[in-house]
Amino acid sequence: MKHYDKIIIGGGLYGLYSAWLTGKQGNQKILLIEKDPEPFMRATYINQARVHMGYHYPRSISTAIKSKKYFDRFVEDFDFAILKTFDQIYATSSHFSWTNKDEFKKFCSDAGIFCEEMPRENYFNPEMCDGAFLTKEYTFDAHIIRDFFLKEIAQFPNVEMLFSAKITAIKQLDSHFEVSLADGKEFDTDFILNSSYAGVNEVHSLLGYQPFQIKYEKCEIILVEVNDLLKDKGLTVMDGPFFSLMPFGKTGLHSLTAVTFTPHETSYDNLPTFPCQARSNGYCSPEDLGNCNDCPVRPLTAYLYMRSIAKKYIKDEYEFKYKKSLFSMKPILKASEIDDSRPTVVKVMNESPMFVSVLSGKINTVYDLDKVLLNGK
Ligand SMILES: Cc1cc2nc3c(=O)[nH]c(=O)nc-3n(C[C@H](O)[C@H](O)[C@H](O)COP(=O)(O)OP(=O)(O)OC[C@H]3O[C@@H](n4cnc5c(N)ncnc54)[C@H](O)[C@@H]3O)c2cc1C
Repeated sequence: MKHYDKIIIGGGLYGLYSAWLTGKQGNQKILLIEKDPEPFMRATYINQARVHMGYHYPRSISTAIKSKKYFDRFVEDFDFAILKTFDQIYATSSHFSWTNKDEFKKFCSDAGIFCEEMPRENYFNPEMCDGAFLTKEYTFDAHIIRDFFLKEIAQFPNVEMLFSAKITAIKQLDSHFEVSLADGKEFDTDFILNSSYAGVNEVHSLLGYQPFQIKYEKCEIILVEVNDLLKDKGLTVMDGPFFSLMPFGKTGLHSLTAVTFTPHETSYDNLPTFPCQARSNGYCSPEDLGNCNDCPVRPLTAYLYMRSIAKKYIKDEYEFKYKKSLFSMKPILKASEIDDSRPTVVKVMNESPMFVSVLSGKINTVYDLDKVLLNGK
């Protein structure tokens, strides 16, 4: 049985960052295990690609302040993968909103984040929004970040990565864990990081650990081509059943999302349980979550619904057309439902041997792992 100092489960941003950070110390043998054929095939790629500064959380000042804290570091570290050259406009809806123009201004001021009021008629149908604000927020390109990590990690002989690898068992013994794969390979380690995001409870169930209290949303991110007037703009209407249309990293496309239609289905079970799994011919199950984006029974797009919401709000001259849909599973802590907060939880499930699970709320809180990875505490 091959020994590793650390085993990392999951090859999204949280996993690759961890392999890179621990690998570059040079003194430890690291193994990353990913069930998909490549890294970054799930949530790290299939999301809105917003580098959060906090504007999105007018009901959770703690999430806003934390986003702001990490924004500068992330933008500096991944400058090469970040698009800044567009106007990120947030607006407050005149109807059915949890916030309004004055509250949003006060929230930005309380959180210490830049916000300049703009004429709302420049972007929106004025009767639909009571305020519009220029903000400082960017978009990241996940594929550029992936390629950066792959190139860096390739230089570390002490880091190995296995793809298309299915973990069948994890045994916890007094001093270490034994990890078995479907192809018969076996490894031991005294440190496991579980950075499998929507798979977090799937991994817990292999060890009999308590599940995180999560609701799972099967989400659709739509990529659209926008006309020249929209190219250098991102438009987001807050805070309720509205929409967002903003650049998707450096791809030249925009992402379109809408609070009501981006989640197609929700599961409140400990493991993600959806009716479509029965039709997936064994591709996906609650115990072995498949990749929604590659699933043979992907949902039909909700584009027309999302488009109609966006078109109600934005000026007629802003146009966009459908390019493609991406699907991914979003786990949200049930406790976050009340205030729409998005904490990143790093939880030590077992001290010795050490088992740590991370459930990330956002991309730029990845640095929350530094302490546990570098100190082992
Ligand atoms: C619809 C949506 C929109 C979002 N919008 C934003 C946004 O605009 N800005 C932002 O900052 N954040 C956003 N987020 C959150 C952000 O995407 C996540 O916080 C982040 O990508 C999680 O990274 P990760 O590495 O933990 O997860 P992932 O990228 O999902 O990686 C986890 C990996 O673990 C693998 N895995 C799972 N189970 C196992 C197993 N048993 N064995 C081996 N491998 C396994 C998976 O295949 C996957 O590759 C959004 C999320 C979603 C879903």
